[in-house]
Amino acid sequence: MLEFYGPMLEHLRQQDPEVAATLAAELSRQRNGLEMIASENSVSEAVLEALGTVLTNKYAEGYPAKRYYGGNEHVDVAETLAIERARRLFGAEHANVQPHCGSQANMAAYFALAEPGDKIMALDLAHGGHLTHGSRVNFSGKLYSFIPYGVSRETETLDLDQISELARRERPKVILAGYTAYPRSIDFAGFRKIADEVGAYLMVDMAHIAGLVATGLHPDPVAVADVVTSTTHKTLRGPRGGLILCRREDRLRPDDKKNLARRIDSAVFPGIQGGPLMHVIAAKAVAFGEALRPDFTDYQRQVIANARELSAALVEEGLRVVSGGTDNHLVLVDLTPVGVFGQEASTRLDAVGIHTNKNLIPFDERKPTDPSGLRLGTPVLTTRGLHEPEMRRVASLIARTLRSDGETELDLIRSEVRNITEAFPLYADLDYGHVR
Ligand SMILES: *Cc1c(COP(=O)(O)O)cnc(C)c1O
Repeated sequence: MLEFYGPMLEHLRQQDPEVAATLAAELSRQRNGLEMIASENSVSEAVLEALGTVLTNKYAEGYPAKRYYGGNEHVDVAETLAIERARRLFGAEHANVQPHCGSQANMAAYFALAEPGDKIMALDLAHGGHLTHGSRVNFSGKLYSFIPYGVSRETETLDLDQISELARRERPKVILAGYTAYPRSIDFAGFRKIADEVGAYLMVDMAHIAGLVATGLHPDPVAVADVVTSTTHKTLRGPRGGLILCRREDRLRPDDKKNLARRIDSAVFPGIQGGPLMHVIAAKAVAFGEALRPDFTDYQRQVIANARELSAALVEEGLRVVSGGTDNHLVLVDLTPVGVFGQEASTRLDAVGIHTNKNLIPFDERKPTDPSGLRLGTPVLTTRGLHEPEMRRVASLIARTLRSDGETELDLIRSEVRNITEAFPLYADLDYGHVR
């Protein structure tokens, strides 16, 4: 028998204790674990509140002041706030805040820039590219002809000379930069030069690094790219969703009647989506508002400082980090020195309450289901208030878990994880009730 107490979720707990129990359990899991999945973050209570609102009821196909249904006067204000704040945050000429997720933002960008069958150059998935950058099991790989570029074997970083050579040979319609498991800064201006040399569009997918870009802590893609896509829920710390920024005019087709901004908008709606998620768009407005405040820059600075400290501490623990370090929020660890690989490592870490993901490393000789790498990120731990000294403790707990020789050691590690999570509480004001 499930029984709840506490002031929140009262209707849900009364009506549907099964679902309510999973929400309470998930809140507890997030509180009591060290979340190091590099693509995750913990949104503010204000963002959570905007998400759980009556805006979910509203059909608003179209764009502010150009809708297909009536009654949009208030959601128009919410969407306009989101658009204006996104433009201000990133210095963009045009913003579309409707993509339901990062993958749909990419789909709309491809539809606006290329025809099915066209060549798109993007980073090899095995070197840190995303599923939507040409995977054969994804729409991107089925619809377009992807030309993969890689990182250099010596430095494990991008080599723009090599990429330029490939671009001259292949003459792609679009060159895509921006990745999912790349720990170094990306020279977007260098990519712009290459795109100009071969008459290609430059598209940047800043899904992972949008928070760093917004605060000037990563080279700016918006000033140089034709189209920039993003998620809103990774370092940017907003609700789960997508975002597209672009210049108004198409620099490759200056006479086009339908400018680039309009092509992007119609690629999103009616091209690939129906009604926008207005509750999510309101929450995006809230998150962009938070990102415009000075303390968001302090937060992102700490995200990077924590990743650097984590990386250095892991190296001192005898692990190898890909590319020798990090410039952003993530660290890609090569587990080869400890001889415990991705599958076993992530399972063991999960069991002590440290959540990570197994990941291929460049030129990995192991298979994707049990790769040589582990991807670690600092956005959530930094949101919780952890600083460099705690990064050292966490690095040591990770190394101990990987080298552990049995349950007694794992129990000790588990209780040390608990000490940290209790010292840095998450969502202290939320009470979803308890399952008894
Ligand atoms: C996460 C990510 C996406 C996709 O985001 P979803 O919201 O999961 O669809 C796209 N591109 C990159 C580089 C990403 O890291």
